[in-house]
Amino acid sequence: MPGMFIDVVVEASAARDRVIAKKLEEFCPVGIFDASGEKLRVVEENLDECVLCDLCIEAAPNGAVTVRKLYQQTREEETRGSDA
Ligand code: SF4
Repeated sequence: MPGMFIDVVVEASAARDRVIAKKLEEFCPVGIFDASGEKLRVVEENLDECVLCDLCIEAAPNGAVTVRKLYQQTREEETRGSDA
């Protein structure tokens, strides 16, 4: 389940890669990645702490990590709604 404002998605192949998983855990300043298990886990309770630093995106192969700003989506939806 995403946070209220942010969702982070990691591709399955990257989540299973121990090197990438450890890098993501190490780089994220707010503890959104947990590499202690067999597969990288996104720590849902920390998602809204994301500071949009993009370190995770830079640390992973191209496109393997996506940080979604849910509040922008909501605003766009609201805007679309008010235009109608
Ligand atoms: S953008 Fe920064 S704070 Fe957000 S999940 Fe990635 S590394 Fe963590």
